[in-house]
Amino acid sequence: MNSDCLFCKIVAGTIPAKRVYEDDQCLCFADIHPQAPTHLLIIPKEHIASQAHAEEAHAALLGHLMATAANLARSEGLDKGYRVVINTGPDGGQTVDHLHLHLLGGRAMNWPPG
Ligand code: AMP
Ligand code: ZN
Repeated sequence: MNSDCLFCKIVAGTIPAKRVYEDDQCLCFADIHPQAPTHLLIIPKEHIASQAHAEEAHAALLGHLMATAANLARSEGLDKGYRVVINTGPDGGQTVDHLHLHLLGGRAMNWPPG
């Protein structure tokens, strides 16, 4: 828990969020500014600042986040596909410094991303 971190506060419940799924390792909630009909954020409960801070010791947790994204995509009915995004650092467009996966779906995505 990082007391200055928005997403740690959502994990702790001191800031509200539309919680969609939770287990002992991760939390999923709706993005407050959705960029697609389905836009969920999947975060580790442990504070990891970004993908750039990921280490081998996090491998099982990172795998769990990906498997959870797939489970949520299935439960959201994203049968035509979807996109999982991890914005990382200033050039990656990261605005909240707690590692998070965006799960975006319900419309066709463009490539390359902006
Ligand atoms: P990123 O720009 O990749 O760091 O993504 C941060 C995401 O967090 C953005 O898509 C924001 O819309 C979202 N966000 C910021 N504050 C909140 C909040 N209080 N509840 C839910 N989503 C949030
Ligand atoms: Zn945090």
